Amino acid sequence: MATHTVRFKIKRQDGPTRADTQRWEEFDIPWHPQMNVLSALMEHRRNPVTVEGKTVPPVVWESVCLEEVCGACTMIVNGRVRQACTALVDQMPQPITLEPMTKFPLVRDLVVDRSRMFKDLQKVKAWVQLDGTHELGPGPRQSQENQETAYPLSRCMTCGCCLEACPQVNDRSDFIGPAAINQVRLFNLHPSGKMNGAERLEALMGEDGVAGCGKAQNCVEVCPKEIPLVDSIADVSRQTTKHMLFGWLLK
Ligand code: SF4
Repeated sequence: MATHTVRFKIKRQDGPTRADTQRWEEFDIPWHPQMNVLSALMEHRRNPVTVEGKTVPPVVWESVCLEEVCGACTMIVNGRVRQACTALVDQMPQPITLEPMTKFPLVRDLVVDRSRMFKDLQKVKAWVQLDGTHELGPGPRQSQENQETAYPLSRCMTCGCCLEACPQVNDRSDFIGPAAINQVRLFNLHPSGKMNGAERLEALMGEDGVAGCGKAQNCVEVCPKEIPLVDSIADVSRQTTKHMLFGWLLK
């Protein structure tokens, strides 16, 4: 039985084209031990009544894994972009404000459309190209050093925090952002992934590519997986310069 409540202030909008419905609503949500923002939203859904006593449609949000692996519940919590599943209510001042990310098209309330990130992964071919038509046997061995560099890079969950925090990602620029650049570093390190290394670098050689980084370094501050994004951007930047100068020798 809850003994007290937690106040939430939530930014809402009824749909992508309904800017006229944008508003803040406040809710007092029954507190439970170990409560996080997602469990508070689930509690709210049972009784969506504002502090003024008005019953409203429940707040819409997205979540899948509930353990900071999928990135679906990314939102702005008390002004900082993060996952709602790991935002513990007892560690935050109230009212706890919830807003949708601003660098992605809004779907409704706290849900945004992150598909640009997945299109960017396609653009840089963020995979190891194997067609599966014949048995290739065991792949080449990766050195211990390579594995240790690659593992942290592989932890990206496409959550979008780094794009949200990046000043170069805005409606006046097409900068691809740190996540896709980091994936180029990851797959260009892989002994088989290297085969498509030149194509990945070429995808990042336009104005919207790695040169669009303004070195603000916000990305590395907000990445929940502590991926060394600044190092990845510097590394891929070196690779693109080398490819631009000497890549033609390999053709
Ligand atoms: Fe999220 Fe970090 Fe991946 Fe950016 S690099 S999408 S912040 S996990």
